[in-house]
Amino acid sequence: MQLDRLRVTRHSIPLPSPVSDSTHGTIRTFSLVTVRAEAGSSLEGLGYTYTVGESAASSIHSLIEDDLAPLLAGRDPRCTEEAWRLMWRATHYAGRGGPASFAISAVDMALWDLKAKALGEPLWRLLGGNSPRVEAYASGIDLDQTPQELADRTRARMAAGFRAFKMKIGRDRLSEDVERVSAVREVIGPDVPLMVDANMKWTVAEALRASRALAAFDPLWLEEPIEPGDIEGHIRIQREGPVPVAAGENLHTISEFTAMISGGAVAYPQPDVTNCGGITAWLKVAHLAEAHGLPVTTHGAHDVHVALLAAVPNASFLEIHGFGLDDFVRRPLSISDGAATASDRPGHGVEFDWELLRAYQVDR
Ligand SMILES: [Mg+2]
Repeated sequence: MQLDRLRVTRHSIPLPSPVSDSTHGTIRTFSLVTVRAEAGSSLEGLGYTYTVGESAASSIHSLIEDDLAPLLAGRDPRCTEEAWRLMWRATHYAGRGGPASFAISAVDMALWDLKAKALGEPLWRLLGGNSPRVEAYASGIDLDQTPQELADRTRARMAAGFRAFKMKIGRDRLSEDVERVSAVREVIGPDVPLMVDANMKWTVAEALRASRALAAFDPLWLEEPIEPGDIEGHIRIQREGPVPVAAGENLHTISEFTAMISGGAVAYPQPDVTNCGGITAWLKVAHLAEAHGLPVTTHGAHDVHVALLAAVPNASFLEIHGFGLDDFVRRPLSISDGAATASDRPGHGVEFDWELLRAYQVDR
């Protein structure tokens, strides 16, 4: 088998309504960069990555088209480790993270999809999974919502089948966060998992103060309390605060995850397959977590992550993310009794409706 072509497109996807968090403020669109890896006349693998707003999307597009596509042309797309090593080395000097990691992620995902399709296996089974069912949670990008709005939306999501929830924190005053978390805990009762996400808002001291104040509402984890590169700070919040720390959506290399996990800086590693280096890198992070006795969870891209969590023994919850592609994928993920089920079709199972996406394409 040889790779004939990588086709890249870029899209600006409007959100159904604006959302907000403590880092990005109000978010109205996200960028989607897609890769189609073609081998022969009938086999095509799909990969994709995304960014907030328009940020870096054209750079990621160019990196794939100008650097990665010529590098991999004519190679066997099933040799994913070799392809990954070539992409990593080719982008090394200006890469090791940033847009290069997003570009490698999209291409690597497309190669794995192609390989699984060539073998006629669903990705989760090819990777060694035992069951396609994965516990999931409803994730809110909701820092602007009032306690009443949060309570109403949580009730609606419970009615839709969710049994675990995450909300944003990081308002200007800690008392507002306490009031908002209290409102959601009140609705879901004492035993339903509730996670909170600060999107890097705080200093270590502020994070510890918040961790202690919110512990009364028993959050399963406190996500991204501080800047992602401050490993010592994460270790302090883990050791001195009562709430376990989650982080990973802003770690874009395996070595960053190694430092976090081996340093005891994180209780719930959250690699995102669309920015940590693709499926090849995501699996290494998941296994690294397992070797340290930790679960692995995910960030964003739930349509693909469901297949990865279904493949590993240390899976924690799948995030059902606000940047959903439900309107653009055939067979969107459904939730029943708190769980999602990975596709039984060959490959990762995600298939875009290209006609619908074309209206939002920005690289024509
Ligand atoms: Mg987050």
